[in-house]
Amino acid sequence: MSTTEEMNHLASPLAPEWLKVPGDQNDLNPLIWPLGVSRSEEGEISVSGVPVAELAERFGTPAYVLSEDHFRARARAFYNAFNDAFAPLCGGVDVYYAGKSFLCVEVAKWVEQEGLRLDTCSGGELALAARAGIDGSKLGLHGNNKSDAEINRALDMRIGRIVVDSLQELERVAEIARVRSLRAPILLRLTPGVHAETHEFIATAHEDQKFGLSMASVNGEDSPAWQAVAAALGHDSLELLGVHCHIGSQIFSPEGFALAAEKLLTFIASVRDLHGVSLKELDLGGGYGIAYTDVDQPQAPEELANAMAQVVGATCRQLGIDVPRISIEPGRAIVGSSTFTLYKVGTLKTIHVERGGDTFERRYVSVDGGMSDNPRPVLYGAAYSASLASRRSDAPPVLSRVVGRHCESGDIVVKDAYLAADLRPGDLLAVPGTGAYCWVLGSNYNYTPRPPVVAVSQGQARLIIRGETEDDLFLRDVSC
Ligand SMILES: *Cc1c(COP(=O)(O)O)cnc(C)c1O
Repeated sequence: MSTTEEMNHLASPLAPEWLKVPGDQNDLNPLIWPLGVSRSEEGEISVSGVPVAELAERFGTPAYVLSEDHFRARARAFYNAFNDAFAPLCGGVDVYYAGKSFLCVEVAKWVEQEGLRLDTCSGGELALAARAGIDGSKLGLHGNNKSDAEINRALDMRIGRIVVDSLQELERVAEIARVRSLRAPILLRLTPGVHAETHEFIATAHEDQKFGLSMASVNGEDSPAWQAVAAALGHDSLELLGVHCHIGSQIFSPEGFALAAEKLLTFIASVRDLHGVSLKELDLGGGYGIAYTDVDQPQAPEELANAMAQVVGATCRQLGIDVPRISIEPGRAIVGSSTFTLYKVGTLKTIHVERGGDTFERRYVSVDGGMSDNPRPVLYGAAYSASLASRRSDAPPVLSRVVGRHCESGDIVVKDAYLAADLRPGDLLAVPGTGAYCWVLGSNYNYTPRPPVVAVSQGQARLIIRGETEDDLFLRDVSC
């Protein structure tokens, strides 16, 4: 399939506008796939030299295949880019990996080895950090409804920072710390009214969502953010380190981060003016976007870091304040593209869809996993891409929908993709970009055991999370 004419001929009217007929469906877009992934002469995909057939043979399908080299390279890239850009302004940056995107003990150790810190948002994630041997000083704790037990656990671990989400929580943390004669280090999570959508951002005074302390005042009263500062400064059991915001996820441009940074720096300047207190830290959250399909154009960490450093530097100069220590919290941007899910193709079915009086074909490709290992398409219509992994094909690409094996018609893995017409049962299919918010959101729907996570590095593959067995499925059923 080489000429544009032939390809246009293959385009399906059922395909979304953004989806192009691939010039060569065997190509692997390096923005979407992990480092070290390539197609061999024979046409099979391998990662760090390990062929997918070998992975399927050893670990079964479905399996999450995680490139350790990719993960570490992304962690280092964020660490280096932000430290380089901010070093002249504030000495450096603390990079907190957002553990909620994907976490296991092994990965927590990589995070620490690469110089990053770890963001947690539950007692379970704190427990994991402890098992990975991460010092509490390198941890943060988030959450809009932290339990007393979680706050106590964080204090037991001598946590580096608790990100306080409400006025009520501020009082609870203060009281728990007071009773224990401790000083709890806190940041205040503020909502600057900047909400980033994937390709644009909107700015509103009042955010209609559950997180954080609003920066907007109502009826001339102090804003909740402002009230929280006064309350925090009034408690000897609290050490107010600074402020935090997180404006969204899968964001492609730095403008939203820049606008949020300006608002929070202005807030820090007001705190200095009215309370005579210099807040030392500003956390700008995570949310940096990655490529799931050919249309996504994520920015390099250097571009983001430089753009943000410029705004932070200029704003602080203008306000006449010292540049606070900056921290960021990338999750998806580090782990997202490190992983692909390897499935085996099962039943294929071509159905006919009526559109404007004509009928067109859509091929359904069933795989041996689905919404239990990747609920993102069902949860929020997330787009993915897919590639025939066990061989190359020069058959014409046909519009396909990759679906799971679950009893739910919404059980879609890849809603729209052009895949080879000669796809057949037993082929291996790889879906890239499944490192973030897939395993962690997985379920046992239909009593399906959860797949293993296999780390690959320098020609070696090893389990970092084993797959569930049938026995695992009944561990908690008290009648078994
Ligand atoms: C989810 C979350 C992150 C990470 O978001 P990504 O989109 O994965 O980078 C960072 N900070 C907070 C507070 C979050 O809730």
